[in-house]
Amino acid sequence: MTERPVEELLAAVEARAKQCVACPLARTRTNVVFGEGNPRSPLVIVGEGPGEQEDATGRPFVGRAGKLLDQALREAGMARRHVYICNIIKCRACIEENGRIRNRTPTQEEIQACYPWLDQQLTLIKPLVIVCLGAPAASTLIHRNFKIMQERGQWFSNRYAPAVIASLHPAYILRQAGDAYERGYRALVEDLTAARERARELRRLQEQAQPVIPADDDQLRLF
Ligand code: URA
Repeated sequence: MTERPVEELLAAVEARAKQCVACPLARTRTNVVFGEGNPRSPLVIVGEGPGEQEDATGRPFVGRAGKLLDQALREAGMARRHVYICNIIKCRACIEENGRIRNRTPTQEEIQACYPWLDQQLTLIKPLVIVCLGAPAASTLIHRNFKIMQERGQWFSNRYAPAVIASLHPAYILRQAGDAYERGYRALVEDLTAARERARELRRLQEQAQPVIPADDDQLRLF
């Protein structure tokens, strides 16, 4: 029996995720933001959850934080088409305050309810490197109570990838000013650069052990 391509398998998971009613966020979402990018990439970026723009469009990291992530990816020598991007929760978590709706950190219940989707994504993609953006993603995929300021930039591993690193969330960086902004942004670029180098190294080792036919895109040239 021939194996179905990862794109097809992921699309089937996404179709099921779009029907998900496992937590109350299903009632307030506009779109399920499943994830996008190159599922054959050795590098997967996992953020926290969709914000307003992501909820409206169904695409991850398309708002202000996404623009900053794009800029940091470029400085690290990558573009979106080189990586796969998703979040720990697939529906927007928000609260109304003084008549305004603002994003909030997902609860543990929401993260747990959504986890089967992330689990299936990462199991299918089999990344070599995962970059967690922010403490909720790192606490979900690295270890509980992750201390982002102390532990960012360090290497870990988990059941999905041999190399897992956490960095500052671009939305957090955007809330900083002056030197703090600059330091935060440099940390993000540094961690993405380290992730790219690690992915390249691990891919080389993987190819030595098991030669592959080069894909018809610039993916393998980059890593
Ligand atoms: N912040 C996230 O964590 N994810 C997105 O998709 C957008 C903003």
